[in-house]
Amino acid sequence: MKDIILKVDELFYNAGDSNSIEIIKNISFDVERGKVIGIAGESGSGKSTLAKLLCGILIPTSGKITTNISRDWSKSKPSPIQILFQNDGNLINPFRKVNDVLRESFKLKTNINKDFSNEIKNIFKIFDLKEELLNQKGSQLSGGEQQRIAIARIMIVEPEILILDEPFSSQDVEAQLTILNLLKKLKQEFNFTVICISHDLNILNHFADDIMVMYSGKIVESGNALEIFSNPKNDYTKFLMSAQSLKLSKEEIKSFRKRYEQD
Ligand code: ADP
Ligand code: MG
Repeated sequence: MKDIILKVDELFYNAGDSNSIEIIKNISFDVERGKVIGIAGESGSGKSTLAKLLCGILIPTSGKITTNISRDWSKSKPSPIQILFQNDGNLINPFRKVNDVLRESFKLKTNINKDFSNEIKNIFKIFDLKEELLNQKGSQLSGGEQQRIAIARIMIVEPEILILDEPFSSQDVEAQLTILNLLKKLKQEFNFTVICISHDLNILNHFADDIMVMYSGKIVESGNALEIFSNPKNDYTKFLMSAQSLKLSKEEIKSFRKRYEQD
């Protein structure tokens, strides 16, 4: 039998005036423990809203999210489900030193108040970060450094489920590769389940075991990543793949949207 860590049943989320805008429309899926699940879909399809529902920042309008967490989290404050938000340059408090940010995470995790300098050094090694960064403030870090510190802060808490919202966006290809390799390494070193959101299906192909494709608040196709890549069944998935490999002209993209939205 499959070991399911997260189960989502008939999830709906409405927002706006008198909840009149349907953003998540009847989503159900299971996540197997230890897997990397990719969620793809264009901007506005509801990916970030789904992520916020999964980690409890938003409350569903209806439907159920069930988790099967293996360790006892009652003694440490942070949640077993952690989210890395989209990198908008504000992932780390601009006024706080990196060392203090990481120390805070260790304090939260352990309920012990000490300097954690050895533990922080170890984390820096794993993340391939230069020790000089420890004394810098959030505002002095580059986008990529902020992101790595933000992931380090989360890993210290040892989450059972890590949700990554567009970890590869607003970065050049080299930085994307660095973060992809770091995430793969962390996945091997720590035992956790990942839900990785990206509008870019191609990069998800390098990381995810299974993929769900979202369109307009619904899942239009889901399954094994390799199978979806070699043999996409849904028209929207096919469209997304061709559009992203630049095989379609602007006119073709426009006309596809029109047709798909009519169906
Ligand atoms: P994605 O992350 O895929 O780009 P989002 O989940 O951010 O998509 O948003 C999905 C859609 O829901 C968008 O059209 C967005 O404008 C809309 N939306 C999200 N939150 C709200 C809200 N609180 N009120 C109204 N509309 C919202
Ligand atoms: Mg988003």
